[in-house]
Formats: sequence, C-alpha cells, structure tokens
Amino acid sequence: MEKKEILDNQKSDPRPVGRWIIYIDKCTGCGECVDVCSLGLLYIENEKVKMKEERYCSECEDCARACAFRAITFR
Ligand code: SF4
Ligand code: SF4
Repeated sequence: MEKKEILDNQKSDPRPVGRWIIYIDKCTGCGECVDVCSLGLLYIENEKVKMKEERYCSECEDCARACAFRAITFR
C-alpha cells in the first residue's frame, strides 16, 4: 500500500522521462539485471549497465530487485 501511494504521487510529476535510475558507481557490471529484464532493455558496456530505450521500460522493477548492489532505483 505504501508503495502504491508513492507511485501515485509520482504519476503527478510532469517529468517526461521514466523513473528508472542507475547509480553507476554502485554497478559492478555483473549483468543480473540484464538477464531479468523481460523487455531486453538493459545491456552491459564497459562493465556498467546501460539502458537502451527508457521509454519502453514498464517500470516493473525486476532489475532493481535482481541487483545485489542496489544500484538501480526508481524516482
Ligand atoms: S545487477 Fe546491479 S550491479 Fe549488476 S549490472 Fe545490473 S545494476 Fe550493475
Ligand atoms: S524496470 Fe523492468 S522493464 Fe524496466 S529495465 Fe527494469 S526489468 Fe526492464
């Protein structure tokens, strides 16, 4: 319930981009998030995760849950 309330609040935020955020310093390039993204939006380049097309991200948060280093979060 608390999570839903946060998401509802963020829906009123007019920023046009998605909510996906990478704390790149925390990323080890392990690739776990790449493997779990069912939309294939993530990839590794120079040992860091990158997002291909954030506008297609469903914000399912599977990648964040898969990251043992808590490098991915959502605004
Ligand atoms: S799971 Fe975390 S540490 Fe591993 S590549 Fe993804 S963001 Fe980086
Ligand atoms: S939130 Fe879901 S769709 Fe978006 S990058 Fe992460 S795993 Fe892929």
